[in-house]
Amino acid sequence: MKPLRQRLTRRNSVLWCNLTIASIDVGVYLVAGKSRLLPEMAGKHDGYCDIASSTILIDRALTEDMAEQVLLHEIIHFVCFVAGVPMPAGDAEEEAIVNPLASALYDALKRNGLFLGPQRLLKQGC
Ligand SMILES: [Zn+2]
Repeated sequence: MKPLRQRLTRRNSVLWCNLTIASIDVGVYLVAGKSRLLPEMAGKHDGYCDIASSTILIDRALTEDMAEQVLLHEIIHFVCFVAGVPMPAGDAEEEAIVNPLASALYDALKRNGLFLGPQRLLKQGC
C-alpha cells in the first residue's frame, strides 16, 4: 500500500489546515471516512494521526465542534510521540490516556476562549 499522503486525492480528502506541531509541519485533512483508499479511517475512527507522514485525518462527516475535538485528540497523539511521552503498547490503553486528556483540554480551552479552531485559523491564512 502506498504511503498515506500519496493516497489522499481530491475525491477523498480536502486540506483543512496546516499546523506546526513541535516544529514539524503537519497537514490536517478532512476525509471520507468510508473511503477504501484510507483503511486507517475504517471502523469507528473519527480521526487518525500518521506520524511518519506528519498527517492528521479527520472524518469530514463530523460536526465542526466534533472535528475540532478530534483534531485536538490527534494533536495530543502527535505531541506525545514527538515528545517521547511513554505510552502503553496497546491502542486501547493509549486511547484510555488520550481521550480524557483531549476532552478536558478541549473543554478548558473552549470555556476560556483559548481554542483557536481551524475555521478561524483558515481565516487568518493557515
Ligand atoms: Zn486516539
